[in-house]
Amino acid sequence: MLTNLSPIRISPKERSILHQLEELSARSGSHSPSLGTMQKAIPEIVVNIDACYLSNPLATDLFWSYFNADVLADPQLFKRMLEAYPSQNRAIAERLSVALGVPADQLFIANGATEAIQAVIHNFSSHIHINTPTFSPYYEFAGPDQQVTAFELDPAKNFAVDPEEYVKSVLSSHADTAVLISPNNPDGYLIPDDDLEWILSKLTSLSTIIVDESFIHFADTATPDGELPSLTGITNKFDNVTIVKSMSKDFGIAGIRAGYSIMPTERVTQLLNNGYLWNTSGMAEYFFSLFDRPQFLDQYLGELSSYKAYIDKFTASTEKFDFVQAFNTSANFQLMKLPEHVSSDVAAALLLIRHGVYVRSCGDKIGLDGDFLRVAIRTESENERILDALADILG
Ligand SMILES: *Cc1c(COP(=O)(O)O)cnc(C)c1O
Repeated sequence: MLTNLSPIRISPKERSILHQLEELSARSGSHSPSLGTMQKAIPEIVVNIDACYLSNPLATDLFWSYFNADVLADPQLFKRMLEAYPSQNRAIAERLSVALGVPADQLFIANGATEAIQAVIHNFSSHIHINTPTFSPYYEFAGPDQQVTAFELDPAKNFAVDPEEYVKSVLSSHADTAVLISPNNPDGYLIPDDDLEWILSKLTSLSTIIVDESFIHFADTATPDGELPSLTGITNKFDNVTIVKSMSKDFGIAGIRAGYSIMPTERVTQLLNNGYLWNTSGMAEYFFSLFDRPQFLDQYLGELSSYKAYIDKFTASTEKFDFVQAFNTSANFQLMKLPEHVSSDVAAALLLIRHGVYVRSCGDKIGLDGDFLRVAIRTESENERILDALADILG
């Protein structure tokens, strides 16, 4: 039980850093300040482990090894990336379509999935129904003429999307667009396949249902050997579904800005007729070109399964924590509810100041009443240090 915990004692120096952190995060809006921004603003802070950004570190290393080997083999490779335009959106889609098994004319290549979200919301939606808590661009990108309504997920039910209640909520909102993120950020809840299919079958009257599968690689889904996990097997049956997929988290390459969206051909055409011609970069194009190399995908799937073993080990440890409530997760992060009298901002600041462990305080997340931390899961040795830090500050 989360009772009888003495409040955390804070020194004056820690209090002063805490204030600086508060000001910095106020300036960063609803996203956390980047490591660079933070270290420049508050030099006293040394970040040892970034458990705020939700990145698969094993995949970053894999990408890095390919990039280094390719630059070594072809010293002009990087210079060409600097000097030349990347390929056009449709040309990258052509190449990627083979690896993804998706027709190229249904693929919209994006400068990070965030750009795809912006494109869909600004062009094809007037009233968006989100689930709260959610990934904030889904409501923040709505313009002044657009309406946003919400279905509230319940922490007491592990943030599960109850299919009947959800469908009722969407239909009674009269929204033309609904957003389902599975597994969801920040809670990690995966909508079971049968539930997802049933929900979609009841919402065929909507013009757009965004299914964001940015974290689906981390979930335990039935995927044919050698294939990348995806929800398209279910969503393909419904022509009002738009898939949104970030590459940032599962491939550990947020800095490159690479993502895509799968949508009806006419919509891809409409978007490309009005922009997005060279919207990615040479680096993103290089990343997508790795999908043509079966060895890269094989190795990626191998790294993914090692990483998932780290995730399982991490969650097996937090399950035993009696000082926070850690929610079940199908993603590569875990949401933790703090005891009532412990502020998530203070807890996150102390993890940072005393242990150099940077986690996401969810104090500002719409739909999360009370104090929550979202902790990204990292390598095995980093996870041990994160777990020790959590136990030290909160235990
Ligand atoms: C991070 C995230 C994205 C966007 O990621 P990009 O870096 O823009 O590709 C999209 N959806 C969800 C649910 C996310 O968490």
